[in-house]
Amino acid sequence: MEEFDLGIVGGGPAGYTAALHAASIGQKVVLFEKDEIGGVCLNKGCIPTKAILHSSEIYKQIKNSEELGISVTDVKLDYKKVVLRKNQIIEKLRKGIELALKNVGVTVVKSEATISTNNEISANNETYNCKKIICATGSSPRVIKGLEFDGKFLISSDDILNLEELPKSILIVGSGAIGLEWARIMSNFGVNTTVVELAPHLLPLADVEVSKRIERIFKTAKIPFYTNTSVKNIEGKQVTLSNDSVLNVDKILVATGRTPNLKQEKIDGVEYLGDVAGEIQLAHFAIKQALESVENIPFRKDFTPSVIYGTPEIAWVGKREQDLGAGSYQKSVTLISSLGKAHCDNETDGFIKILSQEDRIAGVHIVSKEASALLQQVLIAMQNDISVTKLKEVCFAHPTYSEGIFEGLFKLN
Ligand SMILES: Cc1cc2nc3c(=O)[nH]c(=O)nc-3n(C[C@H](O)[C@H](O)[C@H](O)COP(=O)(O)OP(=O)(O)OC[C@H]3O[C@@H](n4cnc5c(N)ncnc54)[C@H](O)[C@@H]3O)c2cc1C
Repeated sequence: MEEFDLGIVGGGPAGYTAALHAASIGQKVVLFEKDEIGGVCLNKGCIPTKAILHSSEIYKQIKNSEELGISVTDVKLDYKKVVLRKNQIIEKLRKGIELALKNVGVTVVKSEATISTNNEISANNETYNCKKIICATGSSPRVIKGLEFDGKFLISSDDILNLEELPKSILIVGSGAIGLEWARIMSNFGVNTTVVELAPHLLPLADVEVSKRIERIFKTAKIPFYTNTSVKNIEGKQVTLSNDSVLNVDKILVATGRTPNLKQEKIDGVEYLGDVAGEIQLAHFAIKQALESVENIPFRKDFTPSVIYGTPEIAWVGKREQDLGAGSYQKSVTLISSLGKAHCDNETDGFIKILSQEDRIAGVHIVSKEASALLQQVLIAMQNDISVTKLKEVCFAHPTYSEGIFEGLFKLN
């Protein structure tokens, strides 16, 4: 029986990060992956959606370029090429991870594995003895009663990635990050897109002001949505909603969350990292958990950022306004339309909202182009307990979107 310091089941962000870092500090590591290295993030999640989103945004921009002084005729969309490009990106990045694993000497076993005890993993009729075991088996699209996937009409976030052609119309059930990003992609490509959400607002986990702004943006983009609503009945391609609206759609994307891939009871002494742990199902959370486990690098879970991609981006971290007691905080809202750079880019929609308590930033909620990058600036300050007073000393370049943060700091007093 071969012996290892660390055995990892699952080669997604949690698993491959743990493997790379453990091996780089001298541990003997075995990593099991039944499908493709890179996990959901690389093969079915973060990367493929952002690659397709990029194509859709360029398509929309070209179609609307007249007001920028550029007129383009005969714009053609070749969706097969969009998918091909997405696949090429995945392959290139996957090879990079595989090479990195090889270079640090991780043994990769391409097989389904079962954790038998807190020291034993079995795969391919062999047993691997490991001093420590990490289970990083990830998650799968949640199946909802009455909306079970058939891969053709009722599709999951896995199925939608490999459509050979775009549908004419789509109903998206669920308005979390996955639902909203696909609503934007489909709408950018000119697909007749409708969103249905059970909660009172789109993006239910966001600060409520962010949700309301997104609803406005969806209205302007002519993406109809129904909140406080569910799917009541499906007959053929006819969908009746709980508010009795009737829609005829080519496809339904069900994006109502993800279920941990946990086939057996949790075993004491085994560490569960990433999506399978069922805490925060984000790639960067999985990566940070892996680093904490392997290299003891601590992280503040409550400072895990959330980002939803598309135009404009949506990003937040820390407390939402609805989490804070009345009178216990200060707030500033800076409109993106007040920034010179936004006008130059023709991207004036959105705001930067800063919430502070006792001269410290408690939460930031951004709807803006470059929101993902803007957020990190504030997050570094939050993590390092830098006061609002001290942050005002920083020189923010002009013209940039980060000037909105600068303006917001001064409005807090
Ligand atoms: C459409 C979509 C878009 C997303 N976009 C983002 C985003 O923009 N940003 C973000 O942070 N997150 C995003 N996510 C979430 C992100 O993909 C996950 O949080 C992340 O992949 C979790 O990493 P993980 O390592 O825990 O699990 P996974 O990435 O799910 O990897 C688990 C791996 O384990 C393997 N496995 C499972 N069981 C076994 C077994 N018994 N034996 C061997 N191998 C096994 C699986 O094949 C898989 O490769 C998105 C998800 C989806 C679906």
